[in-house]
Amino acid sequence: MQINTNGLDMGDLTKNFSEWEFKVSEGYPLLAAQIVITPAERSQLLCVCKFFLQPLRNYVGTITVTSGKRTRLLNIAVDGAENSDHLWSANPVRIGAIAVDITCEHLNLAEKWLIERRDMLRHLVIYRDRKFFHLGFPANDNQYGKVTRA
Ligand SMILES: [Zn+2]
Repeated sequence: MQINTNGLDMGDLTKNFSEWEFKVSEGYPLLAAQIVITPAERSQLLCVCKFFLQPLRNYVGTITVTSGKRTRLLNIAVDGAENSDHLWSANPVRIGAIAVDITCEHLNLAEKWLIERRDMLRHLVIYRDRKFFHLGFPANDNQYGKVTRA
């Protein structure tokens, strides 16, 4: 959580989310430092936070973003799919896709919430053993509500 310039305890996107949280990699911090979020991606991310992640956060408590946008190099480093939705607007296959990986303390509660809202997602991947969720937000391919347990 960052304190923004107006001194309020607020994220710069929503109450609890800031743009910097989506430029992360625990394993490759130097590659993560090269991530740049474009103005178009930021406005898309704002919608994702305002209408999806913040309501989830309000329901389950603190959420940690473990992977947001990736550069090509970072995506290769973490062994991501070739045209991963984590490439955001650099994804040549699914224009408009955004993917975010999250974890939280209350995984069962989060899973229930996510399953109920899967139609708002392009693809929900539930990694139970690794304790995180991949959230793929809609792209231009008219795919909604796909759930995979991995
Ligand atoms: Zn992912």
